[in-house]
Amino acid sequence: MTTGSVRLVLFGPPGAGKGTQALYLRDYLGVPHISSGDLFRAHLQQKTSLGNQASEYINQGLLVPDEVTIEIILDKLLTLQPTDGFLLDGFPRTEYQARILSESLTTKSKNIDKVIYIDVPIDELIKRLSNRYICSDCQAPQNLNPSDSKTCTVCGGELYQRADDNMSSVTTRLDVYQRETIPVLDFYRSQDLVITIDGTGPINCINKRVQSQIEKWLTQ
Ligand code: ADP
Ligand code: ZN
Repeated sequence: MTTGSVRLVLFGPPGAGKGTQALYLRDYLGVPHISSGDLFRAHLQQKTSLGNQASEYINQGLLVPDEVTIEIILDKLLTLQPTDGFLLDGFPRTEYQARILSESLTTKSKNIDKVIYIDVPIDELIKRLSNRYICSDCQAPQNLNPSDSKTCTVCGGELYQRADDNMSSVTTRLDVYQRETIPVLDFYRSQDLVITIDGTGPINCINKRVQSQIEKWLTQ
């Protein structure tokens, strides 16, 4: 398999570093990054009707209903060729989404090759989410101390804090993850697709862990 045709799901709790690893893997593998969170935030910004439907769920830290989410992701996947690779980030987040995705891919093209699970303990997630900022230009997530400059270290763009990165929404999102999203991991584990990565420590170490696991898999 050439790297440009791999189909990966990046999986992990909110704050695990999926967005950061996604930008790294997108460049390393040369595949498009499809992020459900980024797609929703673009709709919110443009105040589309879909954005308006989704906003109350997102701001409360709840999942957007499956019908809406599935439609926006499958529409995006339809723009790709049957053999194109991709990197899914933030989707699937319910077992139903995972089943629909598999059905849709296997009838039209090629199923997911691997699921990269970024594992981070819960107390670390709470700390990270409450210090998280996002670049308004390149979307790179960054963790700041209160005195740090609000400038993106990747592109120099302006950093902002997401409306849903507040304490009450963070607690809800972690609850929802346990209840609704963990079953997705079991679904993919039963198909032997999951590669688990320790998501703690410096970002460049996590990059290396991810890259070496992917190389190992691609050359086996
Ligand atoms: P996080 O960084 O918390 O993992 P994302 O940026 O991926 O969050 O998503 C932000 C919000 O968008 C979620 O809290 C949820 O409300 C909504 N959302 C994103 N992906 C999905 C999905 N697959 N199913 C339902 N809702 C989703
Ligand atoms: Zn930036």
